[in-house]
Amino acid sequence: AAEEGFDLEEVADDLAEAGHGPLPVLAVVGRPNVGKSTLVNRIIGRREAVVEDRPGVTRDRVTYEANWNGRRFKIVDTGGWEQDVLGIDASVAAQAEFAIEAADAVVFVVDATVGATDTDEAVVKLLRRAGKPVVLAANKVDGPSGEADAATLWNLGLGEPFPISSLHGRGTGDLLDAILEALPEAPAMTFGNALGGPRRIALIGRPNVGKSSLLNKVANEDRVVVNEVAGTTRDPVDELIELGGITWKFIDTAGIRRRVHLTEGADYYASLRTAAALEKAEVAVILIDCSETLAEQDTRIITMAVEAGRAVVIAYNKWDLMDEERRYYLEREIERDLVQVQWAPRVNVSARTGRHMEKLVPAIEAALAGWETRVPTGRLNAFLGELVAAHPHPIRGGKQPRILFGTQAGTKPPRFVLFASGFLEAGYRRFIERRLREEFGFEGTPIQVSVRVRE
Ligand code: GDP
Ligand code: GDP
Repeated sequence: AAEEGFDLEEVADDLAEAGHGPLPVLAVVGRPNVGKSTLVNRIIGRREAVVEDRPGVTRDRVTYEANWNGRRFKIVDTGGWEQDVLGIDASVAAQAEFAIEAADAVVFVVDATVGATDTDEAVVKLLRRAGKPVVLAANKVDGPSGEADAATLWNLGLGEPFPISSLHGRGTGDLLDAILEALPEAPAMTFGNALGGPRRIALIGRPNVGKSSLLNKVANEDRVVVNEVAGTTRDPVDELIELGGITWKFIDTAGIRRRVHLTEGADYYASLRTAAALEKAEVAVILIDCSETLAEQDTRIITMAVEAGRAVVIAYNKWDLMDEERRYYLEREIERDLVQVQWAPRVNVSARTGRHMEKLVPAIEAALAGWETRVPTGRLNAFLGELVAAHPHPIRGGKQPRILFGTQAGTKPPRFVLFASGFLEAGYRRFIERRLREEFGFEGTPIQVSVRVRE
């Protein structure tokens, strides 16, 4: 099974967590036995090296918190991933790709006493393509005589090799300085961060769909705040609103309420505002005026929300104006134009009468739950194994690409990485995506599936 030798599930969970924590993430990659774990131990200041000699032993954890000169970051040790599953080249490459997915910067460790091997060269190619900052560590330079060996690693084209001895600590200070330079600053905590605070909702939709009416309805106040003084600092941009017994943060309500009617470039500013609101939100409630034919602007806004990777709820507003005939056409328009968000919970509401307002919160909660779904790697691979056995990829040019294994690299929205032995056709990818949804739900959330091909 794909999980022998290392605990993929734990790796995936830790990477997902690492990729979303507020701290920047450093991954340490390289061939087995170059000293990755020894280096990690050195960086996190663990006294005794918990280096396992037996191959295939699962380490207890893969991410750790490190601190150097007062700056904190997370470090991902890929040292426990061994070659029994895929063969050495593929496993090291997979390791590098995982790291690239989840990390802000990479330390590539080479054994300077051995020099660069073909496997090392292959990893360098991957790292170059990824475009993430790479710091090259020439390890096992235990004394000055090893410096010359380290210098030959300039040939890898990754810039200056840092000669270090993970075992004795030699040169690791300079390496850490370079690492800190490569890592981004920890992002400043914004309001309502991931660690708590109210969930953030963006109420979006084209002009006149009823955003401000809905906002007034949910905020229980029957007035529109008109604020004419530009740059008023008291102007609340976001509002806390209690709904269904829960406090939510509605993003950019000032923009919704201000009702500025620009003539020139109105569309442009409206979409800037939408993009900015999406940026700050976790879930988008997209309003559509069900009494009118779906407009291109509606689908554009939906696409923006999907591409921003937000949870999505679609609210068909002005349902009080609905009649049989319009209903017939609406359903057809939805089938034709909104296939891309078939998975989004739908509520038919009226901001005017208050119809079905109580359905809004359950829909939002369902979408957020889908958005945060984490599929354990074991379950994912059991599912993929069965799926691929029952529906293998069509043979192309005498070859049959196989999915080797997969993992969920992140949540919010769920992101999957599949490792395959060959190129997977778009149709097959869509099939996998569809089956993933059937199996695991993902209501109200876009999902991303990327494929890594092992040559
Ligand atoms: P990993 O599999 O890449 O994580 O490598 P390990 O950290 O498990 O180290 C493999 C072996 O190399 C162990 O026996 C370490 O003690 C040894 N090693 C690691 N770093 C150094 C070093 O800087 N100098 C020397 N001489 N040996 C080292
Ligand atoms: P916004 O531009 O998206 O903020 O839309 P508004 O809230 O300003 O609403 C635009 C127009 O649609 C106003 O005349 C509202 O009274 C009307 N409207 C909003 N919601 C509803 C609704 O549920 N039913 C009906 N019949 N009219 C609505």
